[in-house]
Amino acid sequence: MKRGHVPIRTCRSCRNKAPGHELRRFILKEGRLVEDARQGYGLYCCPTRECQTKLLTRLRKQKVVRADKEDGSIE
Ligand SMILES: [Zn+2]
Repeated sequence: MKRGHVPIRTCRSCRNKAPGHELRRFILKEGRLVEDARQGYGLYCCPTRECQTKLLTRLRKQKVVRADKEDGSIE
């Protein structure tokens, strides 16, 4: 018998696929990655600093990080 379904998550940095419990879950908060928060938009990433740094760099390029700063101020 198979045991319960294990959800596979994809690292948003290197696209490595792994069971959810092997990756860390982050949310973006004030332009930073905050680990293990159970709210907001979750991003999965490998538990290595290297991968997390790459992820944050990528998100900044995509302007995802900036989105939570846009309070109507223009430059
Ligand atoms: Zn990764």
